Amino acid sequence: MTTLMTYAGPEEPNALVTRTGGLPLAPEGTAWPTCVECEGPMQFLAQLLLDGQARPLRGDGGRAELVMAVFMCQTDPGMCDAWSPTGGANASFLFPVDGLTPMTAPEVDDPETVLLGACHAVRPVESPQETYGDAYEEWVRADGREPGHLLGQLGGRPDWLQADETPSCPGCGRGMELAAQLEEGPDHTTNMNFGGCGAAYAFVCGPCRGSAFLWQC
Ligand SMILES: [Zn+2]
Ligand SMILES: [Zn+2]
Repeated sequence: MTTLMTYAGPEEPNALVTRTGGLPLAPEGTAWPTCVECEGPMQFLAQLLLDGQARPLRGDGGRAELVMAVFMCQTDPGMCDAWSPTGGANASFLFPVDGLTPMTAPEVDDPETVLLGACHAVRPVESPQETYGDAYEEWVRADGREPGHLLGQLGGRPDWLQADETPSCPGCGRGMELAAQLEEGPDHTTNMNFGGCGAAYAFVCGPCRGSAFLWQC
C-alpha cells in the first residue's frame, strides 16, 4: 500500500492539518529559521501531522500528537545548498501538537522568499501499489487527473530520483523513516522549488524525535 498526497484545493493558512504553504504553527516564541550559508530567513514549505511515534497521519482517524514543519532557503534560489540534509540551508522541526500558534513571517523585500504563494489542502488517497512510482503512474493515468495534483506520499519508502540518501539519525544512528515525499506542486507560480521537477524527502526518527529534510532532482 502507498498513501498518496493529492491536491484538495486551497487550505486556510493557519489550519492544524497536513498542508503545503500557509503559516507554520509552532510553540510561542519559536524563532523563524535562518540559513547558515546566507543568513537569510528560510521559506516555509509544509506542515505534516504525525502520531506519537512520528508516523504521518493518513486520514484513517489517528490522533495528531506531533507537527512537522519544513523550511528551506530561497533567498537566492540555487545559491545555497537547500537540497542538503546537513548543509544548514534547510530546517525541519517536530513540535508537540498542544499549544501551537501561527508564526509571524519575517518582513522581507519579496514575501515569497519566506512564504509560498498558495496554501494547499492535502487529501490522502490509498493506492494498492507497493511503490510510490507505481502508485504515481496508476493515479496519473486515470481520466481527468492532472499530474501536478499529485503532491507526494505519506510514509512508505522513498522513491529516489538519484542515489539513496536515507539520513542516519544523529541521536541513535539508525536510518530515519520517511514521513513524506513531496512533489513541487500544481502551479509553477506558487510551487516549491526542488530544482525543477525534483522531489523532496522529509525524514523522522520517532524514538529520538529527530528529523531531516533533503531534495533531489
Ligand atoms: Zn541561504
Ligand atoms: Zn534516532
